Amino acid sequence: MAKAKANTELCKGCRLCVRACPRHAIIPLELVNKNGYEIIEIDQELCIGCGMCYKTCPDNVFTVE
Ligand code: SF4
Ligand code: SF4
Repeated sequence: MAKAKANTELCKGCRLCVRACPRHAIIPLELVNKNGYEIIEIDQELCIGCGMCYKTCPDNVFTVE
């Protein structure tokens, strides 16, 4: 099954993806990337590869394989 991957160095911390994911598979973290933005992680057990995160993220963080 397809899964999403995230390049969190591109993340700007907007959290739009967290609300967009129908599986609640995107977890907001307090960890920051090198640009100082709080990042997210994907729970691969929950992800169904629907692509909503890919469509929603304004900063091209996600790829779906
Ligand atoms: S939508 Fe993109 S930029 Fe915004 S928090 Fe999610 S991964 Fe980061
Ligand atoms: S592909 Fe779909 S299920 Fe997986 S993290 Fe993105 S929005 Fe959530």
